[in-house]
Amino acid sequence: MFFPRWDRARRWGVKRVWHLPAQGRCDRASKNILIKDQPPHEDELHCLLIHEICHAVSSPYHGRRWQDRMMKAGDKADKIGHKELAEMLDEEVKRQRLIPKNIDREAYDLIYDIVTALPYIKFNRLLTRVAAEYGMYPREFKVRFKRSKKIFNQAKGFMKTGKSKSFKVK
Ligand SMILES: [Zn+2]
Repeated sequence: MFFPRWDRARRWGVKRVWHLPAQGRCDRASKNILIKDQPPHEDELHCLLIHEICHAVSSPYHGRRWQDRMMKAGDKADKIGHKELAEMLDEEVKRQRLIPKNIDREAYDLIYDIVTALPYIKFNRLLTRVAAEYGMYPREFKVRFKRSKKIFNQAKGFMKTGKSKSFKVK
């Protein structure tokens, strides 16, 4: 209904993946829409599926092409009387637009913050935590944010010097 030309050959499927780091994901390689768990409300499920199918038919990113497709789906939802779904789709596009452009800086700041709060955290634990914030698996995060380990070591070093100083004051 929302994507009349998508998957005419019926090759795509929907799979539930319990360990998925985000609510949904579009796996173009295996032609699957992956969802973590089924949202309680029907409109939420539809919004989630439409979000992912928009990736399938446009691009893996949340840029202009994806946004246009989402808005088209929103118009359609509005026309067929699904006002709440239309609003949800609109909100979802707005939410994605708000995500900061300087995503690298934000990610590395987050690493710094966590190490500052938990100076004894191990790199793998930290990676799991920050990756979850970004809806990624730890290994994906490490590939996307290549300086993670370096920033982690810097933050650790910073905490250490901070500590020895306060120790001397005592
Ligand atoms: Zn997305």
